[in-house]
Amino acid sequence: MASKFLLTFAICRLIVTVGLTLDPTELLRLELEGQLSLEPADVGSASRDFGGMQTAHPMAVLHPASAQDVARLVKSAYESAHGLGISARGHGHSINGQAMTANGLVIQMSGLRKPTPPRVSEKSMYVDVWGGELWIDVLRSTLEYGLAPKSWTDYLYLSVGGTLSNAGISGQAFNHGPQFTNVYELDVVTGKGELLTCSKEQNSELYDAVLGGLGQFGIITRARIALERAPRRVRWIRVLYSNFTAFTQDQEYLISLAGQPQKFDYVEGFVIVDEGLINNWRSSFFSPRNPVKISSLYADGGVLYCLEITKNYQESNADTIDQEVEALLKRLNFIPASVFTTDLPYVDFLDRVHKAELKLRAKNLWDVPHPWLNLFVPKSRIADFDKGVFKGILGNNTSGPILIYPMNKNKWDDKTSVVTPNEDVFYLVALLRSALDNGDEMQGLEYLSNQNRRILQFCDEAGINVKQYLPHYTTQQEWIRHFGEKWTLFSRRKMEFDPRHILATGQRIFAPLL
Ligand code: FAD
Repeated sequence: MASKFLLTFAICRLIVTVGLTLDPTELLRLELEGQLSLEPADVGSASRDFGGMQTAHPMAVLHPASAQDVARLVKSAYESAHGLGISARGHGHSINGQAMTANGLVIQMSGLRKPTPPRVSEKSMYVDVWGGELWIDVLRSTLEYGLAPKSWTDYLYLSVGGTLSNAGISGQAFNHGPQFTNVYELDVVTGKGELLTCSKEQNSELYDAVLGGLGQFGIITRARIALERAPRRVRWIRVLYSNFTAFTQDQEYLISLAGQPQKFDYVEGFVIVDEGLINNWRSSFFSPRNPVKISSLYADGGVLYCLEITKNYQESNADTIDQEVEALLKRLNFIPASVFTTDLPYVDFLDRVHKAELKLRAKNLWDVPHPWLNLFVPKSRIADFDKGVFKGILGNNTSGPILIYPMNKNKWDDKTSVVTPNEDVFYLVALLRSALDNGDEMQGLEYLSNQNRRILQFCDEAGINVKQYLPHYTTQQEWIRHFGEKWTLFSRRKMEFDPRHILATGQRIFAPLL
């Protein structure tokens, strides 16, 4: 009753203050259990994202109390004579306004109000979670049963729906595939307002469309995520290379061990262009086992590469972990005496980036613009990318960590909506830069954004067929190029599941038919 009153109140204000393209009486008739808010704080936070470079004000924000709330709101927009853009927003950690909608409605999926708590099935080794659940909370709830999801992102304060709409990748992806290949079933509200359960067996076209679908085909309200027995501890190792070929050969060798018992559990890496960045927010170096002065290392073209690997273990096999790690390290060609090792609980490893976040927040360096660029680079051209970008365009000032690690394409599902390069192995290169307004032009937003454009142009001119991860384009022509052969399928799925183009308009793929 109270929420009905709040809704009526909110909508009356909505009509008075902004004028509504959707016939307001339609919204008033909606039986919503949650709250439709016009509060400046809600509208303000839905107008921003982590990228800090775009703003778009929605008319109102729904805090749903159930999947039915989501379905009712979307159905109402779909059936309305005027139409209305609707964007699901997870934790708003997009870079380019992908979860925003100007003058439409944002459905705030993550937040304090959780329609359903995670439900773990120990027997079947899965957890059912609300689409707005943050991965950190998924982890906390499954650990109560000694279980954990298999595939992760580096940072856990992201929503399940938000990462599944892209892929969700980290150093486990070479072995387990991205997060979206570790999902058994979804509940989805389509752009017609239907609430459907889908999986590989049931409504499989919708399931494949939504995974990696950039929010275009439906709003994920529940995901059934595969679990494994949670390791207790992690041996976390970093080794350095001055030779790019040796570095990538070792990374590729390590990911070729996918599925075998004798392998590392996580394979990532990063580029050190500037010695000052060796201790960046993403990667504080721990004490070396064999002390080495990094500045004394010969860097090939002024660049060093760091391979980052982990081995998970249970306390019961703590006595063999040293030998297992040694045996694997022996096969690699890193710079001798550059082994940095630490050992920590599994949760602390998974949640490592949050610690860095807290430090940056304390220095007011978290809420700054983030002109990030994430690319999938085909293995056959990664050396050209190294020459042209790491040793070329970037100079010696990167303004943030640069991750680089390979993945096995056969661990991705080509039926989903995501696009990756057409080779068995491709690399993620993530330029995770923060723009500062400190008078240094080379750290400013304009400089870094121009550099991103130069990198994309270089790839174009050199014929390096990169694909953007977490893609951002402003014209449909660019999107058509991005999807390539998949565009026909992508647009057919759009016609089927969101024929009025009302969902996730902030991606700017389809012009709204309002
Ligand atoms: P939002 O930004 O809220 O939404 C993103 C898109 O998904 C929007 O189009 C939105 O409409 C749609 N969407 C949101 N919820 C739903 C839903 N329930 N159903 C359907 N569509 C929905 N990514 C990785 O893969 N690996 C990483 O290691 C990684 N690390 C990151 C670290 C940081 C600090 C940040 C800021 C981002 C990182 N990302 C990483 C990127 C991140 O996965 C994406 O930006 C993701 O979309 C963020 O999730 P979110 O919940 O904030 O989504």
